[in-house]
Amino acid sequence: MSIAPWFDAAAEFERPLLERNAPLAELHRQAQLDGAARLRAAGSLRAPSPWQGTTSVSGMRQAIVEAEVYALLREYAAQAAAVTDGADSARWTALVDEGLTRSRRGLLVDEVRDSAAGALLLRDSWGLRPVVPNAPVIDCACGYAESGVIAKGLCIECGELVVRRWSAEELRLLALVPKYRARVEEILSDTEARQKKQIGVPSDAPISDVASKRARGGRALGRLRRSGRRLLVAGRDLPSERWKQLAALTAKALQIQVGAEGRRAGRRGLGAAGLAALAVKSDDAIHG
Ligand SMILES: [Zn+2]
Repeated sequence: MSIAPWFDAAAEFERPLLERNAPLAELHRQAQLDGAARLRAAGSLRAPSPWQGTTSVSGMRQAIVEAEVYALLREYAAQAAAVTDGADSARWTALVDEGLTRSRRGLLVDEVRDSAAGALLLRDSWGLRPVVPNAPVIDCACGYAESGVIAKGLCIECGELVVRRWSAEELRLLALVPKYRARVEEILSDTEARQKKQIGVPSDAPISDVASKRARGGRALGRLRRSGRRLLVAGRDLPSERWKQLAALTAKALQIQVGAEGRRAGRRGLGAAGLAALAVKSDDAIHG
């Protein structure tokens, strides 16, 4: 079974392609093995409290696995490009685009869009479940979950889903730089404690008072970003494009505080998604 019935044509195209292209098949085999091991590891990770936001443990685990799948498929695509014929790539892309148009589920399948021929069979081999046609994925009020197009902004459900994905991608990247991660985690745990304390204080402006605690954490992240480059392993491109895309999407959240955290991501660098998750938590606590 493929990601969804709409992608069966693309998956069927991959099978004979792998049979006649030995270098691609070898790469595919290796990606399958490496991917299975990395997904096993990702499946056992737990998000530390600040990144958890209001997401359920199982929801966060799913997002962590998705982030790993996205990264694996991107890495596979980068290698596959060198051994895949241009015409085959174009054909595969056309079939995937057709599937995307028919499924109208941009939200779910972006990991495929950014990969290469072989990606659908890789997903299958990792045991990822197919998407059930027409089953509501989330209770979306803005249309984005279905169409992938943002009108006025992201509704609460979509906004939270994007923050969840952004947090998961951030945790994936932070795992590559443990020393930097330790500093980020320290800042976010401190911010969460301050936020929690502030939420309990009676105030005329509870939202901005609590937001000021996150702003403080954001400034600390900004200082770390500027001074802590040596803690980032040289040559690693951090944050990733994916992280930046998800930050830009979060900026479109209709929940004002959550959107604001997305817009400040660039200055803060890694840790910004954790602050957005804290904004979701704070909104929930204040508005009930
Ligand atoms: Zn929505």
